[in-house]
Amino acid sequence: MSAIADNLQAVQARISDAAALAGRSPDSIRLLAVSKTWPLACVVAAADAGQRAFGENYVQEGIDKLTAIAGRNLEWHFIGPLQSNKSRPVAEHFDWVHSIERLKIAERLSSQRPAYLPPLQICVQVNVSGEASKSGCDPDEAPALCQAITTLPGLQLRGLMAIPEPTDDPAAQRAAFRRVREIYESIRAAGLPLDTLSMGMSHDLEAAVAEGATIVRIGTAIFGERNYT
Ligand SMILES: *Cc1c(COP(=O)(O)O)cnc(C)c1O
Repeated sequence: MSAIADNLQAVQARISDAAALAGRSPDSIRLLAVSKTWPLACVVAAADAGQRAFGENYVQEGIDKLTAIAGRNLEWHFIGPLQSNKSRPVAEHFDWVHSIERLKIAERLSSQRPAYLPPLQICVQVNVSGEASKSGCDPDEAPALCQAITTLPGLQLRGLMAIPEPTDDPAAQRAAFRRVREIYESIRAAGLPLDTLSMGMSHDLEAAVAEGATIVRIGTAIFGERNYT
C-alpha cells in the first residue's frame, strides 16, 4: 500500500474513534482530502485508495488538477480565499465552495454557474477567532448572508465552514468549534435547511468531530508537510 493509502486509513481511524467517543456514526463525517501544493500523482494515489472528495485553495492549481483527472469522477471543493476576478473558473469547474464570506462573491458565482451543472454547493465561512483571523464573516452577519444565498439560483446553501485560530489546547479547540455549531444551530432554528459543518484539520479533527463536524478538511495527515517554496 502507498504511504498515502496508509495515511488515509489512519485518518479514517481517527475520525471513527472520535465519532465513537462522541456517540456519533462515523458515516456522518466526510473526509475531504486537501491536496493543495501536492502534485496530481498524489491525488491519483489517494483516488486509487478510494478517496473521492478533494479540497484545493488556489484556483489555477485546482483547475489544472481537476481537468487533468476529469475521467475519475472525483468531487472538488474550493476552500481558499476567493477574489471576485477568479470566481468564474470556480463556478465553472468546482462542485463546492466552502469559503464564502460576502454576498458579492456568492452573486457572481450564482450568475456564472453554468445551467448544465448541478447547483454549486455552498458553505459560508465564519470567523470565530476575532482579530486573530482575517477570513470569514462576522458571526453576527452569518444569518443574513445565509438567508440571502438561499435566494440565488445555481447555488445550494449547505452550511458553515470555519478555521479557528490554531491552538494545541483541546479545550480551546472545542470551545471554538462549539461556537461555530451554535451559530449553525441558530440558523437552522431560523428555518434554513443547513446540513454541513465544515471544520477540523489535521491537528484538531477530534475536537471538531466532538462538536459536530460533518466534513473534516485534512491535508498534512494524508499527504505530509507542505513545502510552499
Ligand atoms: C490547508 C487547509 C486545510 C488542511 O490543513 P492541514 O492542517 O494540512 O490538515 C484545511 N482547510 C483549509 C481551508 C486549508 O487551507
